[in-house]
Amino acid sequence: MRLIIMGAPGAGKGTQAPGIAAHYGIPAISTGDIFRSNVKQKTELGLQVEAIMAAGDYVPDELTEQIVADRLDQDDAAPGFLLDGFPRTLHQVAALDDYLAAHDHQLDAVLSLTVDSEALIQRLLKRAQLEGRADDTEETIRHRMEVYERDTEPLLDHYRDRGLLVEVDGDGQVAEVAERAVAALDGVAGA
Ligand code: AMP
Repeated sequence: MRLIIMGAPGAGKGTQAPGIAAHYGIPAISTGDIFRSNVKQKTELGLQVEAIMAAGDYVPDELTEQIVADRLDQDDAAPGFLLDGFPRTLHQVAALDDYLAAHDHQLDAVLSLTVDSEALIQRLLKRAQLEGRADDTEETIRHRMEVYERDTEPLLDHYRDRGLLVEVDGDGQVAEVAERAVAALDGVAGA
């Protein structure tokens, strides 16, 4: 299974991705987690992306695309993967398409978690208190929402047009949403 999970900041991508990926026996690959761990370890990449992330902006496409290609080249991603947080721009969509075409693979589905925008802000503010993420201040949250709406939301239409989009209500208990997601994916991707 080659899957993407999409949703606005706070929609629950990072919460849902590991369980859904485990269900299909594929790795969940989160670009946000890769960047955060590099920031924490103060690697060269981490130093490059730290300020961008803290401001709630997107890391440059080429850099992000290279990180993802390197990760997808690893053995555990050979049978499939669930991408969480990538692609986020149409440029990244094209890069992923090129990567998959070069490997004779294609996407099975793009899962979109839908959550009402007021609920999203509340979730993010709660997470800011619990995890203390540097990009979870109220101002940054608002900015991340704007960037999401401007650069990433159009991807939903793009994947809908390609017949790949699977929309699932992201509101509710974690297990409940996971069940809904897997049922919807099984329905379309013939897993
Ligand atoms: P996330 O954990 O997915 O919310 O990602 C946290 C931050 O990492 C984002 O706000 C961006 O600064 C950066 N990031 C993660 N994935 C991408 C991507 N595909 N393109 C650009 N920046 C990204």
